[in-house]
Amino acid sequence: MAFKTDIQSASDILERFYRESKTGSTPVLNQEKPEEIIRNLGLETFVQQGGLTGPALKKFLEIYFTYVTRLHHPNYLGHQCAPPHPSSSLGTLVNGFVNNVSSIYEMSPVSATFEQFVVNWMLEKIGWEPMPYSKPSSGFDGQHAAGVLVNGGSMANLTALVIARTHKIPEVWNSGNTDNLTVLLPAESHYSLTKAAGILGVGAKSVHYMEVDAKGRVRPDKMDETLKEVLSKGLIPFAVVANACSTSVGIYDPLDEMAAFCTANELWLHVDGAHGASALVSPRYRGLLKGIENANSVSWDAHKMLQVPSLCAGLLVKDHKHLNHGIGGYQNASYIFHEKDQPGFDSIHNTIETTKSGLAEKMIFVMGAIGEKGLSDYLERQHQLTYAAFEYINGCEDFECAVSPESNILCFRIVGSDELQLQIRNHLTASGLFYITTVVFNGRRYLRLVFMSHNTTLSTVKNLVTEVVRLKESLSEILKN
Ligand SMILES: *Cc1c(COP(=O)(O)O)cnc(C)c1O
Repeated sequence: MAFKTDIQSASDILERFYRESKTGSTPVLNQEKPEEIIRNLGLETFVQQGGLTGPALKKFLEIYFTYVTRLHHPNYLGHQCAPPHPSSSLGTLVNGFVNNVSSIYEMSPVSATFEQFVVNWMLEKIGWEPMPYSKPSSGFDGQHAAGVLVNGGSMANLTALVIARTHKIPEVWNSGNTDNLTVLLPAESHYSLTKAAGILGVGAKSVHYMEVDAKGRVRPDKMDETLKEVLSKGLIPFAVVANACSTSVGIYDPLDEMAAFCTANELWLHVDGAHGASALVSPRYRGLLKGIENANSVSWDAHKMLQVPSLCAGLLVKDHKHLNHGIGGYQNASYIFHEKDQPGFDSIHNTIETTKSGLAEKMIFVMGAIGEKGLSDYLERQHQLTYAAFEYINGCEDFECAVSPESNILCFRIVGSDELQLQIRNHLTASGLFYITTVVFNGRRYLRLVFMSHNTTLSTVKNLVTEVVRLKESLSEILKN
């Protein structure tokens, strides 16, 4: 079959791509205009006539790869997407080929089992009781946690808020919102949470923000004040959210103290661990998440710090009943077995998605290749490099960092205006030399580095600093005029 030779072409070019990316011998990104990309690849012709196979495919791939943004490149310091482990992409390929749907057991016993295995692995890392694989003879009255894999952290956050809302006011599922619902968010939180409030009909403007310290960390000593204020307005907070860690500067909220406050006040605590829950794999850094076991729900992206391609996110709930009731319409469901007599469970009732690909395949293939130790080694390396980069940049004249880092995210600025930081970033990406982002934190714009590539070293950071200084000199003149 032509597929076999085509896949050989693809694997040859992927091997070369990986080698070039590692050594940084090409630009990290190449932003061409869409019209040019369409023309150079001959998309119109292929779509009209077909023939994208054999030598034509080989040529097509050569061109395709000239426009690829290289996440394994040492100078890739952009968004929080994993430079995937090569083995994990095999999971995507294999599951894509067989197109087995993981949400219905009989549509893929292996994908459904993989998903439950990965969810259980995550639950145990949090310190929760895993789900049984088969229906326990005693029924489902036991205390255990549960979870599903969903398409991303934003989806996991949305699902968590749906579940928290149903838990607080079960009638909402059938009758719609009351007009006094609110959510308490850290002042620094991911925009998927306000978006979720909008989607839920709570209203993006109805959320309340909790006070944070100079690092953007929630102040547990101020939570009581915020809660009293909210309650005095007649509002019903149905969830409190904690960052683990924040997207902007990568700081962890004090989960222990927040959980104690929420337990005392009967509030649902959701931990947004999309980026930072992966530190649970590291014996050295799992302390950053102390207290996570006392939360009610957790979001955890595998496609950020676990070397897994997008998307693969865990939505994890401490008490399995909440998952089943919360998103399933508060049905008096006979759990996930329904009337079917089958060996495993269907997860379809517990997700916003209906059909869902085998997300766990990506995770199983990387875990199987490098083991938990491999996952932990990568995470620890990236954290340590970030801490070393902080020491270096903080020691450079004219440079300052936003906060001392706790994860693999580091924000800094060179003396000068916000506009200067933005211009520096734009020049770096336009030239294809470095891929970095910027963020506004405490009212000022910072250059933001996310250490994702295993090929980035401290000398990469030194080269970046040199380049930033050079750009500042040339740009300062232009900005003055
Ligand atoms: C990345 C991130 C998200 C969004 O996750 P996606 O997988 O991109 O949808 C949500 N919260 C935090 C804290 C994040 O870092």
